Amino acid sequence: MPMKPMVRNNICINAHPLGYERETLRQVEYVAARKPLYPKEGAPKAVLVVGASTGYGLASRIAAAFGFGAPTVGLSFEKAPSATKPGTPGWYNNRAVEAACARAGVPAWTLDGDAFSAEAKARVVALAKEKGLVFDLVVYSLASPVRTDPATGVLHKSVIKPIGPAYRGRTVDVFTEAITEAEIQSATAAEIAHTVKVMGGEDWALWIEALKAGGVLAPAARTLAYSYVGPSLSWPIYRDGTIGRAKEHLDETAKELRRRFPGLGAWVSVNKALVTRASAVIPIIPLYVSTLFKVMKERGNHEDCVAQIDRLYRDRLYAPGPARDAAAVATDAEGRIRIDDLGNSPGGQAEVEARMAHITEANLRELADVEGFRDDFLRVHGFAVDGVDYEAEIAPDYDQAGGRA
Ligand code: NAD
Repeated sequence: MPMKPMVRNNICINAHPLGYERETLRQVEYVAARKPLYPKEGAPKAVLVVGASTGYGLASRIAAAFGFGAPTVGLSFEKAPSATKPGTPGWYNNRAVEAACARAGVPAWTLDGDAFSAEAKARVVALAKEKGLVFDLVVYSLASPVRTDPATGVLHKSVIKPIGPAYRGRTVDVFTEAITEAEIQSATAAEIAHTVKVMGGEDWALWIEALKAGGVLAPAARTLAYSYVGPSLSWPIYRDGTIGRAKEHLDETAKELRRRFPGLGAWVSVNKALVTRASAVIPIIPLYVSTLFKVMKERGNHEDCVAQIDRLYRDRLYAPGPARDAAAVATDAEGRIRIDDLGNSPGGQAEVEARMAHITEANLRELADVEGFRDDFLRVHGFAVDGVDYEAEIAPDYDQAGGRA
């Protein structure tokens, strides 16, 4: 049967296998077509991406493999298709990346497992030793609702909640285009602590320790973890909420890693908001991101995941000249790399905030790019991807993309 998207309340419960393959290859083609490619001098020679299968991690792996020609190890938590169910999105992405790397002659290995576990770290160290890899770039790009602490065995769950007063904000259903008010109660102290455990920097530091102890981390390696700041109107739910606390912990971890491992370049990179499977259900985000996209597209500076990471490597982390020296990589006053700068230009943000103040269902399409948000959301689930025949039958084993990537 052909497969159609099944969406309710901004949640899509199915995913189209062929769309992932095509969309992943589009990212590969984007990087491969960028001229000139990244400079060879100072380029990483072995890259580990933790959380490599979707979103920013996938883009980080693709940009490393096709911009630098670097061998990559990608770790993620994905499920293969079965006789009755399609695989998870990242499973198809991983397969498409591996096939594209094989065609280009760039070594790539993908491991599946729980990145938070000691076992996953040991497997990556063993693989690196076997293949003779010494990582000089480690990208930490996990987004997870849960984490089992390997030291205690306790399962921690993260929440997106405000700290302090309850949050009320407008949100849009991007399919019906209905604007509604949403309310989220404030987090308890325990919920804050759990969210920091899951999305803070503890596990990032454990990865660096494990790679160092295993002898597979280059002395002057660079490591990145990703963060988000966003506009002031989202701060009560994001930056000043539970996730913001976790991101503060990530900032502290970057400083601590630099102190503990002299020679290691450790940064948090603040990236732009993009449409992901989860972001559509966070109040304010669909309305804000749709408005931001409209303003940025009008100004000609809209970027997707792979364009952001391409610029992060090219203009920041591996910029020619003095930035080869880790101490000279351009950062903000907090020591973070800001690749969200285009979206956060003062004029652009003021325009977004002014529009959001008087947005209604009647003028939604004029002031915001809900259609762009909807298309990106569908693409994240393998739908609305150019060049895919959505009328084609999907094989019963959901593995129709086999051999085509
Ligand atoms: P995503 O959901 O697209 O990707 C998360 C990755 O983590 C996937 O590869 C998934 O397989 C992997 N993963 C999750 N749990 C795992 C586990 N236990 N073991 C192994 N792998 C696991 O997420 P994303 O939106 O790309 O976010 C990545 C990072 O970028 C996060 O820190 C996020 O806060 C940050 N960020 C995202 C945005 C945005 O708008 N999406 C903006 C700025 C920063």
